[in-house]
Amino acid sequence: MIWRDFLGFLFPPECLVCRQALQLGEQHVCFTCLGQLPRTFFWSWPQHPIQKPLGDTLPVAGVHSWLFFSEHNSVRPLVHHIKYGGGAALASYLASQAALEMGTGLIGGSPVFIPVPLHPAKLRQRGYNQSLCLARGLQQVWGGSIEEEALCRLRHTKTQTGMNKEERKKNLSNAMAWSQIGESAEAASAIVLVDDVLTTGATLAACWEVVPESLKVKTHVWTLAAAFGS
Ligand SMILES: [Zn+2]
Repeated sequence: MIWRDFLGFLFPPECLVCRQALQLGEQHVCFTCLGQLPRTFFWSWPQHPIQKPLGDTLPVAGVHSWLFFSEHNSVRPLVHHIKYGGGAALASYLASQAALEMGTGLIGGSPVFIPVPLHPAKLRQRGYNQSLCLARGLQQVWGGSIEEEALCRLRHTKTQTGMNKEERKKNLSNAMAWSQIGESAEAASAIVLVDDVLTTGATLAACWEVVPESLKVKTHVWTLAAAFGS
């Protein structure tokens, strides 16, 4: 412990966005950068502007994305850290911050969170499923439960970077399967599919397709960020 404090004194943890040393009470991102992350604020709009174009492939009860993602904004280093830099704790922290801002009214008082699964090989390589870490952060604030194994990936899919909408859809066809989940799902205020970044919605659509019909009417999508034109 003393050794860790000493290292912390020599090399104080830095903000992942501005690289300044973090101050007391700050975690992963300094309060200034956290406050300046580009919010979508779509959750407070009566008609969600992302939901409409997704309507055909993802006719869910609600799409809730906290931040804008782009290759050039401050969200990119955070998403990169979550996916490739061992940022499991960062994922939970950001999701809890998002949940505090978005409020419990969004999805009711007893949601069931279902993380988008990783293929087991990818999970072994990464060591954690970032969507599960995000779900944990949401649950800390919103309550409810997490059904970690409700969805599973049947096969390994190619990385989707650079693919268009049709290619992504083909890549993901029959990639997901639904496992039985507890009775809590029937009584839940909402089923919430959780993912890191919403791009074309192909991954989430592949998940939504295998959700049982009785649950589809109250199935929402929550993502940390949404990208336009990617
Ligand atoms: Zn900062």
